[in-house]
Amino acid sequence: MNRNQVLPQVELSPEPRALKRVDFCAPQSYKGAGFLSIADMPRVSEEASANLPGDGFDWNVQTHFEESPGSEPHQILELGLKGRLHLICQRCLQDCAIDLEENRRFILMNTEAEADAYPIEDEEQEPLVVNPHFNLLETIEDEVLLSLPLIPKHPDGFCEPHATTFGDGQAEELENERENPFNILKNMKKN
Ligand SMILES: [Zn+2]
Repeated sequence: MNRNQVLPQVELSPEPRALKRVDFCAPQSYKGAGFLSIADMPRVSEEASANLPGDGFDWNVQTHFEESPGSEPHQILELGLKGRLHLICQRCLQDCAIDLEENRRFILMNTEAEADAYPIEDEEQEPLVVNPHFNLLETIEDEVLLSLPLIPKHPDGFCEPHATTFGDGQAEELENERENPFNILKNMKKN
């Protein structure tokens, strides 16, 4: 008998507060979707260089049970994320919009030991240790943080390097070097 057909499916509240406490040990599956602003995610908020209208992430979550021969059915959680935040462009040092779209799949575990024993080479899904008052908001926030580019940048050709990326002194030196050829020309004409 398929467990998903017997167990009730519970609708997750889109309220950020409600996501902080989800019972993943209850005999039920979940489905839900909502939007989290940057302010709803304090650690993402710390990374963001600006919080502009529309910044934030649409999320959707769905869990189901998968039969596994010889053991209890596995609970699977699928998480989809799509949204935008602003980071400092490492080329021009201005705010830069970063669009992210991620889909993750987790296999839910009850203990750290079970998660540690899970084959690390499984690239399709990763273990996630849950409990009856699991903070799903933190998991969503973790996934946003993990998706951030290491070196955020505008698309190529969109912006110019900021002078201070060379250091103040060196930037002045570059200016002087640029003037030098003209000085040389002037001197040549005088002779
Ligand atoms: Zn830039």
